[in-house]
Amino acid sequence: MSARILVVDDIEANVRLLEAKLTAEYYDVSHAYDGVTALAMAAEQRPDIILLDVMMPGMDGFAVCRRLKDDPATRHIPVVLVTALDGRADRIAGLEAGADDFLTKPIDDALLMARVRSLTRLKLVIDELRQREASGRRIGVIAGAAARLGGTGGRVLIVDDNERQAQRLIDDLTIDHRPVWERDVDKAQVASRGPVDLVIVNATAKSFDGLRFAAGLRSDEATRHIPVITVVDPDDRGRLVKALEIGVNDILTKPIDPQELAARARTQIKRKRYTDFLRDNLDHSLELAVTDQLTGLHNRRYMVGQLGALVTRAVRGGEPVAAMMIDIDHFKQINDTFGHDVGDEVLREFAVRLASNVRAIDLPCRYGGEEFTVIMPDTRIEDAERIAERIRTHVAGSPFRVAGGTELLTATISVGVAATLDETDTPEALLKRADSAVYEAKASGRNRVISRRA
Ligand code: GH3
Ligand code: MG
Ligand code: MG
Repeated sequence: MSARILVVDDIEANVRLLEAKLTAEYYDVSHAYDGVTALAMAAEQRPDIILLDVMMPGMDGFAVCRRLKDDPATRHIPVVLVTALDGRADRIAGLEAGADDFLTKPIDDALLMARVRSLTRLKLVIDELRQREASGRRIGVIAGAAARLGGTGGRVLIVDDNERQAQRLIDDLTIDHRPVWERDVDKAQVASRGPVDLVIVNATAKSFDGLRFAAGLRSDEATRHIPVITVVDPDDRGRLVKALEIGVNDILTKPIDPQELAARARTQIKRKRYTDFLRDNLDHSLELAVTDQLTGLHNRRYMVGQLGALVTRAVRGGEPVAAMMIDIDHFKQINDTFGHDVGDEVLREFAVRLASNVRAIDLPCRYGGEEFTVIMPDTRIEDAERIAERIRTHVAGSPFRVAGGTELLTATISVGVAATLDETDTPEALLKRADSAVYEAKASGRNRVISRRA
């Protein structure tokens, strides 16, 4: 998995060293020697990750980081600050500036690669969501709303069998969040399926394997999106690298510094809310685009989109596609007599009957108002007629229960049926034939099926 990385450091030797290490792992690396140039390059090149030195003359790394995180165009790019060894104050300041991660000098190769890999994975997810959302055209609104998502009030699940350490985490986190503690992994696993914004797991627990637990969260669809921070011993480099490899989002080393804990928790919670927000928006806009809100059936736009490909395949020598156009008889009277809400109930109930009387590969849709269509792939016209007749008798034969089941109401439908003919046929022509058949059904008395065989 390659990525474009921007390395920013005022000392040329540092740049060269990082560049050499990253290029050897097939990353695509560019560099800048000062903050102003770095900002310009970030805006122009949109790298996947920025490795940013803290100590630079002029604009330092914190200022650069703040500017990157303030700009909606670069906010989502992960920033790794490169700090002096034991730069605790730097790390706190960096997290306050919105940095996503840290590396201390001299840089440990394994840690560098593990961090870069884990951030590349995250960036991929965010990019994908942003891209799909952008095609949903509201990226400006989204970015604006996302900027207001806070990093406090998070539900934090602490998984630890060390009571003293857990108690300290709870005390520190209670200031900003709502921590809960679980000492037993099986119970923690159940708890993780509830509403959780962050899991903090002790990787050095005595009674369970914390990394195995973290890996389990990652591989389970239900918990995959919850950020995980593991607590490790600073000397236990093996476990630290392993943690990053299995995809934990962040690491805390013992003894846990309260300010660092607060900052890292806030960063993770904020990021989770951002990705949740993108994801929810996306699901919602995708669903809105293809679904009729009243009945839950597909809408006309979706149906028309699918029909094109189906007809093309049919007229090029495949099996025919049949279309059924359905219009509820005297629906205006139902509205006028029982009210619009009852009319809606009839439409919903009819949609259920329609969907349960066709095959899984058929496409029942609400065409608009009280008109529905069913597109039936691989269906000859005789079969379509038979299916239409079955639906018609089912509707006319069993009354609709409305107004909370207190009233029974009889409705009927008029149905037009058509199927693809030859290679000159088109989706528009097919629907038009079905529509004119409905018209004929209405004209000749309603509650009937008329089929157009040519
Ligand atoms: P016909 O037998 O000739 O089809 O008569 P009709 O009354 O069904 O047809 P017309 O097209 O005159 O009226 C359709 C009515 O459907 C008018 C409109 O107010 C109503 N309608 C359309 N959409 C909805 C809806 O979402 N909910 C409800 N309750 N009524 C709707
Ligand atoms: Mg109508
Ligand atoms: Mg009607």
